[in-house]
Amino acid sequence: MSELKLAMPAISMIDSGPADAAPMSQRPTEVTDGAGGHSQVVIVGSGPAGLTAAIYAARAGLAPIVLGGSAPGGQLMITSEVENFPGFPEGIQGPELMARFRDQATRFGTTIVDADVQQVDLTERPFQLWAGGVRYTADALIVATGASALWLGIESETRLRGRGVSACATCDGFFFKGKRVAVVGGGDTALEEATFLTRFAPEVVLIHRRDQFRGSRIMQQRAIDHPGIDIRWNTEVAEVLGDESIEGLRLRDTQTGREWTEAFGGLFIAIGYRPNTEVFRDWLPTDAAGYLEVEGETGSVIEGVFIAGDVHDHHYRQAVTAAADGCKAAMDAERWLETHALTHAAPVAVPG
Ligand code: NDP
Repeated sequence: MSELKLAMPAISMIDSGPADAAPMSQRPTEVTDGAGGHSQVVIVGSGPAGLTAAIYAARAGLAPIVLGGSAPGGQLMITSEVENFPGFPEGIQGPELMARFRDQATRFGTTIVDADVQQVDLTERPFQLWAGGVRYTADALIVATGASALWLGIESETRLRGRGVSACATCDGFFFKGKRVAVVGGGDTALEEATFLTRFAPEVVLIHRRDQFRGSRIMQQRAIDHPGIDIRWNTEVAEVLGDESIEGLRLRDTQTGREWTEAFGGLFIAIGYRPNTEVFRDWLPTDAAGYLEVEGETGSVIEGVFIAGDVHDHHYRQAVTAAADGCKAAMDAERWLETHALTHAAPVAVPG
């Protein structure tokens, strides 16, 4: 696996300007206006959407800054083998794929800062963002903060994540050929994943904590009628069993508290996702499920702010679709900057 590289080329210092007009009350006390930087395009997020946006913006001479978070790389960093990303017929480890994205973005002059964005001010342009204690400004902003899968939160689940415990059947289902697997959840994701897994697993056990599903009626019926799916109502996972990889589950009846163990070769957690929208919530509208609302393809209610990837897409949630979205957002941002005469093309870093 190639090492993640932290690229920190010189950033132009920002002068004091309209940024200082931001009311002090809106700023977190622990951050300062210290050595940040200005870019025509700042991208928040360093998963497939953010880094693809960076590759396109950098190659357009926009010298983007990526504020990539303190745990950069997005969901693929906790994925083992990725076999459905085009161009890698033998498959590739998730972290290595993200290292390649990152290398490609920095190769053309992207500055990547591994810091969490703590606060933004989108009142006027240039937009302001505070990350890692310093302030950045941007003529255009791409929000690509992704979504995080929810987990049960038990120690054994965390320990065996990537070793039989997964949150993505589309990504990992293939590895469970011939194994008896369990899916936890009662929403559309769980119903869909359970149905999908019957292609590989001889028996799929759907574990739900209540006696009624939350998902759509048609998906419920499909799962209930499926001969390969066995449903455990009023049941929760008390412990994931196994040392090196999953061997079974200790299950608990949520009504009586009775516990028992069953052998399983895989566990899929499908209890929902949380889109990473915290710092944008006061500025950009979200839908009922908390995802950012997009105007057109990648636009938002604020001119110059673009949205890409899982932070708005709860339907496809794939690295390749997020990457495509990042490409679109960068192209839209570039055109928008051009229209507003805000482009000052920097020389594109030409790889040696
Ligand atoms: P949901 O929030 O709809 O469902 C989450 C499920 O997980 C619920 O049944 C919930 O139980 C259960 N759950 C939550 N926390 C725990 C926990 N700690 N332990 C055990 N069980 C837990 O999330 P989904 O990801 O399923 O769906 C999100 C949205 O995406 C929905 O609007 C859905 O319709 C949509 N979607 C649409 C699809 C499609 O149209 N093809 C496919 C997938 C999703 P409880 O019911 O008791 O709260």
